[in-house]
Amino acid sequence: MNVLVLGAGQLARMMALASKPLNINVRAYDVGSERVVDPLSLSVDYGDLAQGILDADAITAEFEHIAHDVLAACEQSGKLFPSSQAIKTGGDRRLEKTLLAQAGVANAKHKIIANKFEFDEAIESLTLPLIMKSALAGYDGKGQWRLKDKSEAEAIWQEIKSFIEGDTSGRPQAIVVEQMVPFDREVSMVGVRSKTGQTLAYPLTENHHSKGVLSVSLAINEHQNLQAQATEAFDKIANALDYVGVLAIEFFQVGDSLLVNEIAPRVHNSGHWTQQGADTCQFENHIRAVCQLPLGSTELVRPTAMINILGTDSVPHSILEIPSVTLHWYGKGKRAGRKMGHINVCGSTRTELISRLTQLSTMLPNADFPDVNEYVSTL
Ligand code: AMP
Repeated sequence: MNVLVLGAGQLARMMALASKPLNINVRAYDVGSERVVDPLSLSVDYGDLAQGILDADAITAEFEHIAHDVLAACEQSGKLFPSSQAIKTGGDRRLEKTLLAQAGVANAKHKIIANKFEFDEAIESLTLPLIMKSALAGYDGKGQWRLKDKSEAEAIWQEIKSFIEGDTSGRPQAIVVEQMVPFDREVSMVGVRSKTGQTLAYPLTENHHSKGVLSVSLAINEHQNLQAQATEAFDKIANALDYVGVLAIEFFQVGDSLLVNEIAPRVHNSGHWTQQGADTCQFENHIRAVCQLPLGSTELVRPTAMINILGTDSVPHSILEIPSVTLHWYGKGKRAGRKMGHINVCGSTRTELISRLTQLSTMLPNADFPDVNEYVSTL
């Protein structure tokens, strides 16, 4: 079987690695070069998109910001899973908010605005502080603003106005103005849904971010109440989208309640721990779902955590002396802040995991892993 993945980054690569034992070949469509390539070497050329669609038994995506004409061509073949609508929903916060309302899933209070009148109205009707996010993808880290005090409103509006005017997507841009949630922590759920509607969810993951980028993920399976809430939200959202494949949902935890932040219609960075910590990893389960094979168990087999490697292409090899530490490089060129790889670490108990994480974090250079040590010390 052949699976075509739209996007040729590390997620396509890890899907390819997980697919080989099933005798499934993954090819990747590089949206930059517009060629179908091998996701590991990035060098074998299998032709253009039309050829890739023809050669594929199933088509899927590793990111949500894919040109709509590419999605349309794939959907027309009848091989695209999840649907183009599900992929587009993950790439447009307006569609995401509409979906959450339709599915009846709690999320932050918000307004969608596109002009000064609506902007002023949103500030009046919502409770400050506010976070403002572009509906379509921002660029160069732009596209998010925080408003703590009304006196900042005019300056922020000027920035938003030029952001909207400078948009080159060819689609109408808008801003989601959202109330800041005083969350206790950020968690996410990765789950999988089959074409027949079966859903399976992995244990919730606690996520620690550094400068807005995921730094450490820790599988948590000791909170049955939160797990039940997240699973219910997952089922509602996945069913509303008639979703096929792995879907990730990011939440804010406030006390004992969860509010959805955003969804990602794909395998997700916060699910990389499943490679060593779950019965079936997220990459294999995604491929199983889109190829209409039986889903694999999402059970936690042992407490596991993941540390992202950002912007560096080396870590001390001595970390491999720690039992149950696994290194995953993505084979990418070094660039500041770029996701270069990750480290998974497991323990037979939570206590053993935390002890190994502590040992690991002290061996990782602070310059490349700022605040990992500090976060681990809070566990
Ligand atoms: P997002 O791009 O929506 O994932 O937002 C990036 C980060 O900003 C999140 O991981 C949160 O830490 C923070 N954030 C986003 N929305 C909110 C909100 N409504 N309240 C508090 N923090 C938020």
